[in-house]
Amino acid sequence: MKSVSVQCRGIGLSYGATEVLKDVNLEIEPGEFYALLGPSGSGKSTLLRLIAGFVRHQRGELLVDGQDLTALEPWERQVGLVFQNYALWPHLTVWDNVAFGLVERRMPKETIRRKVGAALELVGLSSFGERRPGQLSGGQQQRVALARTLVIEPQVLLLDEPLSNLDKTLRVQMRQELHAMQRRLGVTTIFVTHDQEEAMTTADRMAVLEHGVVQQVGTPMELYDEPANAFVAGFVGTTNLVPGSARLFADGSVAVELDGLGTIRLSEAAGGFMRGPVTVALRPGAFVLGSRRVVRDARLAWTEGVVQAAEFLGETTRYRVQAGGQVLSVDEVHRIGQGRFAPGAEVVVGVDGTQARLIPG
Ligand code: ADP
Repeated sequence: MKSVSVQCRGIGLSYGATEVLKDVNLEIEPGEFYALLGPSGSGKSTLLRLIAGFVRHQRGELLVDGQDLTALEPWERQVGLVFQNYALWPHLTVWDNVAFGLVERRMPKETIRRKVGAALELVGLSSFGERRPGQLSGGQQQRVALARTLVIEPQVLLLDEPLSNLDKTLRVQMRQELHAMQRRLGVTTIFVTHDQEEAMTTADRMAVLEHGVVQQVGTPMELYDEPANAFVAGFVGTTNLVPGSARLFADGSVAVELDGLGTIRLSEAAGGFMRGPVTVALRPGAFVLGSRRVVRDARLAWTEGVVQAAEFLGETTRYRVQAGGQVLSVDEVHRIGQGRFAPGAEVVVGVDGTQARLIPG
């Protein structure tokens, strides 16, 4: 299968006076597994439906493999959309559900038999052809929905919240299966999710949307480590946004006096060229927590604080710590036998400047 690119150029869409997508520019590479991530109402599904052809944009261009699809009806596009609720026909067997699109296209019986067989094999449901959707688990139903879309050999595969109807264990398993299948097929895949973990673990790259505006595009790690603004910093992972005041040194490094938390030194890359009032993003892992008696590593900026709450998450314990007039989320990696700080514990908090990022604006 030939992998194709998808390009959105200056796409705008309004429902009446409400602008739902504003000047959306995306360059999705052939064969990419691409996530559209954003909170509810940010315009993700609208963008997905627009690529499928179910809604029309009023401004801009939508190109697939360099061709403008804007004027084409959904069935004229080689784009397959898997709906969030799978939209299987309950009265049809798995086989007939998958065959449906091919029958509609009036394909020869033998071709249909071959293609449906191959699609069911692809999703690991070869022996389930005679069942009805009601006799399948959630994960199996989703695989049927996938097979039904893949059987028409779309150039672009669109998935609307593909994992949200599955329980947690199945979600992780399906996430890996989807990824492996997408890699095998090489089909350019765009999926919508409000779940940052899902986007981070699966996507090659992702676009973060808010209020119909693309906030940032990048690999999961780029977005996590170098958020472009406070929204992305807060939406992709957990972050502490701490106000401070920046000073630029002749060697290009930046020192930031964090409100109530001491002064940290940033590298040039992390600091940009900002001075004056700034916001600093600090992930929960950017802190070190210790008892007040602990020997304090001179490379960190230390402040005394009090633990307000402790949440044991397994791999880590997440603390809420009051320090220097801030309330911070602080993670500590858990090891067997390690004690925990109880709420009320008097602690010291160290800020690791190498893990800090300045947030523009
Ligand atoms: P998301 O998928 O990110 O949750 P949507 O794309 O579904 O967001 O919706 C984006 C915005 O567009 C929302 O404010 C929603 O209310 C509005 N919207 C979606 N579909 C319609 C429609 N058919 N008519 C009017 N407004 C709509």
